[in-house]
Amino acid sequence: MELKDLYREIVNEHNLRPEHKGEMADPSLVLRGVNPSCGDDITLQLKLDDNGVIIDGMFSGSGCAISQASVDMMLDNITGLTTEEAMKRSDLFMGMIKGEVKDDDELEILDDSAALKDISHMPARVKCAVLGWRTMKEILADPGKSQK
Ligand code: ZN
Repeated sequence: MELKDLYREIVNEHNLRPEHKGEMADPSLVLRGVNPSCGDDITLQLKLDDNGVIIDGMFSGSGCAISQASVDMMLDNITGLTTEEAMKRSDLFMGMIKGEVKDDDELEILDDSAALKDISHMPARVKCAVLGWRTMKEILADPGKSQK
């Protein structure tokens, strides 16, 4: 199997069977993120413990396969991180999408999210891929924005 096919399969799997799609009973932070250019519209819910560690994450809403898969992969990736670590992880993902971070060893830490690496060559889809990550960073940087 070619690497490209493998990446496509990873994205498909997260789109068809998202583990983090749904409503959370008692989220700590909630923020809606919208990408009007494609119609992607998600609401991100994060649960933090007393030490600022993200212990759970869910999303609801709708959008294209890339946006939905990306937020599901992101929630896999950031669960267990402190909010500070999660924001740094977001910077790494953005760096990959902009084509600034290309080193596979460095990208390994992104786990399944690294499957979106080639999106950097598809400008029209970039906003779809980053929607979950930028929404997550926005709410962690300014929890006062929470729509809970
Ligand atoms: Zn989209």
